[in-house]
Amino acid sequence: MFETLKLRGPQCLAFNQYSATHNPSPSYVLGKGLREIAAMSVQVLAAEMAEVELKDVPSKELTPESPLTTKADDKGIVESEPKAVVTSATTPTMEPIVKTGDPSPGFLTPNTKMPQASAMKRTDPQQNGGEAFVNRDGTVAEAPRLKKIQFADQKQEFNKRPTKIGRRSLSRSISQSSTDSYGSAASYTDSSDDETSPRDKQQKNSKGNGDFCIKNIKQADFGRREIEIAEQEMPALMALRKRAQGEKPLAGAKVVGCTHITAQTAVLMETLSALGAQCRWAACNIYSTQNEVAAALAEGGFSVFAWKGESEDDFWWCIDRCVNLEGWQPNMILDDGGDLTHWIYKKYPNMFKKIKGIVEESVTGVHRLYQLSKAGKLCVPAMNVNDSVTKQKFDNLYCCRESILDGLKRTTDVMFGGKQVVVCGYGEVGKGCCAALKAMGSIVYVTEIDPICALQACMDGFRLVKLNEVIRQVDIVITCTGNKNVVVREYLDRMKNGCIVCNMGHSNTEIDVASLRTPELTWERVRSQVDHVIWPDGKRIVLLAEGRLLNLSCSTVPTFVLSITATTQALALIELYNAPEGRYKQDVYLLPKKMDEYVASLHLPTFDAHLTELSDEQAKYLGLNKNGPFKPNYYRY
Ligand code: NAD
Repeated sequence: MFETLKLRGPQCLAFNQYSATHNPSPSYVLGKGLREIAAMSVQVLAAEMAEVELKDVPSKELTPESPLTTKADDKGIVESEPKAVVTSATTPTMEPIVKTGDPSPGFLTPNTKMPQASAMKRTDPQQNGGEAFVNRDGTVAEAPRLKKIQFADQKQEFNKRPTKIGRRSLSRSISQSSTDSYGSAASYTDSSDDETSPRDKQQKNSKGNGDFCIKNIKQADFGRREIEIAEQEMPALMALRKRAQGEKPLAGAKVVGCTHITAQTAVLMETLSALGAQCRWAACNIYSTQNEVAAALAEGGFSVFAWKGESEDDFWWCIDRCVNLEGWQPNMILDDGGDLTHWIYKKYPNMFKKIKGIVEESVTGVHRLYQLSKAGKLCVPAMNVNDSVTKQKFDNLYCCRESILDGLKRTTDVMFGGKQVVVCGYGEVGKGCCAALKAMGSIVYVTEIDPICALQACMDGFRLVKLNEVIRQVDIVITCTGNKNVVVREYLDRMKNGCIVCNMGHSNTEIDVASLRTPELTWERVRSQVDHVIWPDGKRIVLLAEGRLLNLSCSTVPTFVLSITATTQALALIELYNAPEGRYKQDVYLLPKKMDEYVASLHLPTFDAHLTELSDEQAKYLGLNKNGPFKPNYYRY
């Protein structure tokens, strides 16, 4: 079948390079309810495929970027009282401040190796490290300094406090998955009440256990409520707990995890625990931890090392505390961004003797794994969760469809009805944004470079335009191309007064924000994550999140979507942990379609959905097993 596809393009070429399907039965079958997961085979993605894919991955896709709001960010902005509302449908204006100093974007070049902590350091314009501010009268004043975040020096010993002072490299711990897998904009954590570093505190939970390091154990009750709310929207994980029926498919598993520590992750961790695993966890992002959730986990006996607003040194210290423990060695890794895997490779390579596998969620982490595999250095099997259908086709589309309006509304209070919006890129993210805006009565234009997506946009009822044709008239510009310099200074100059400009793509390359940091333009921070950029003639545009991902910076993302990804992670762990010796080699594997289908099926009862079953005759006619998989791997959905 693949042979016939061979000449039809690079995607098919990739499929041609799948190597043989292994062992068609699952490594572990949970309780009766799960027995229908027959043939949970996993397909090897040969190293060649990784090569094909990686060649096509633009370097900026691999550039981790902070999507998250920071406390420091909020604190560090010079704000004054609102004076007047100048823009239509936007936020009140403030006393103008010109912010000079153009932070270099520092993106990886195509030849750049995957990030070393030091190599990825970058200036983050959201964190004022003491830049100069030019007042209206032309005088220059040093801006108030933020509380600086310390760099980690990887050679540094953790019992010494770091000597280097600097801004935290956002890039090191923030991966594609933090775009595709979310930060906790939803966190209600208030870390301002207590400035003592958690590392300097001695805390114990109510059972006397102190094997954790979090902000404040007293927040546990609040965190528990957050977890319970998340449980309502994570039906598949709750079903997994029930369907295990007392079986412990992860009995003996010692999972070390490095993900966003949010209520949704807590539901995953507690599910893994219910299935028999011991878990030790650190955060994959210095800002995304919900402190109250970390407290609830610690109170529940989990060894969690994370708090919101870690320094880089804290970040690595927390990871180290997870893995470096006498008498306890992990045998499974659950990573989001590859930092944990990287740390173990670097510091404790011998641990891989006992590790049965790695489950990786992010594009960045997966990319690193493929690189290791290609170099022959991957010492254990790894599961690429990022490329599961249930991840890609749900996260990107539905997450953005749900959150674009939220992000815009929270930051600008804009009314959508009748507004003219141009959405750049009609991929999964663009489709989600367009659908939501159209439903709200906006007049939506689309720009595309790909005739197929362009035709889809047309047939979905959107006007396909070039950006320069509508740039003067639109009220909102949204980029979601994954590309760079889609909205350049020339377009920004031509936008009308009050135009809102934002990005939903992974990195902050899509809008040329750097081009706005020139002396003739005045920047005015009107709210957290909202800047007015003011032209000499008084025209102002409303720039959101400084061109970073709008939804992850300024809104929440739906728990239900996260549930789908978290379930895939849990199943991947179960599969790898229970796989008989030799089933998986030291390579990167994709979860089989059967497993994707199973994850989807676990979410269907939420909708009281009734799935049609194939009759024997129909199954024979289509050449399918009645229990699936129902589609070939090349099916695009
Ligand atoms: P995609 O590849 O499906 O879609 C991107 C589209 O942009 C493509 O159709 C491409 O042809 C088009 N495009 C590229 N350059 C263009 C240009 N100069 N002008 C107009 N169109 C152009 O990707 P996707 O899944 O839609 O993801 C898009 C971006 O959003 C990626 O960076 C991805 O990492 C990110 N993402 C964000 C979220 C979120 O929650 N905000 C979630 C998932 C993915």
